[in-house]
Amino acid sequence: MTNPKDHVLSWLKDAHAAEEQAITMLSSLARRIENYPELKARIEQHVEETELQAKRVQECLRRLGSDTSTVKDAGTKLVGLGQGLSGMFTSDEVVKGVLASYTFEQMEIASYKILIAAARQMGDTETARVCEDILQEELSMAKWLEDNLEGLTEKFLELESKEGRTAKH
Ligand code: MG
Ligand code: FE
Repeated sequence: MTNPKDHVLSWLKDAHAAEEQAITMLSSLARRIENYPELKARIEQHVEETELQAKRVQECLRRLGSDTSTVKDAGTKLVGLGQGLSGMFTSDEVVKGVLASYTFEQMEIASYKILIAAARQMGDTETARVCEDILQEELSMAKWLEDNLEGLTEKFLELESKEGRTAKH
């Protein structure tokens, strides 16, 4: 039997790996965007939030006595990013990037809700509080993307119909 604390530790490691992947994916996405300044700015803001999220998750791991040198090994098993990266050089990369980012935020939202429930159950109010804070940032990023899916798609199609304009990023 695995005890609740071991699950929380394992899920925190997964969350940390996801944040590290998000930094990589979102940074390269933002760097490539030229014609969607609001999207670029919102992604850059979320990269900054994500860097702090990764640190805060790591701090939870440390407080729970986890050997954080193993944090890096937990990576690569998370889904979602592959799609984002494979979309990067397609003719509709901005659309693929937004789709992958939205999907990724939903995965993060579920992960932190799970962590909050588990941390509360084991009486770890500090981990629950940190995850609550992070959850709010993920919800707000997801909402921004959702609110802008339509407009971004319209702009992409509009730019594409114009000669000499770069629509894809
Ligand atoms: Mg995050
Ligand atoms: Fe996020």
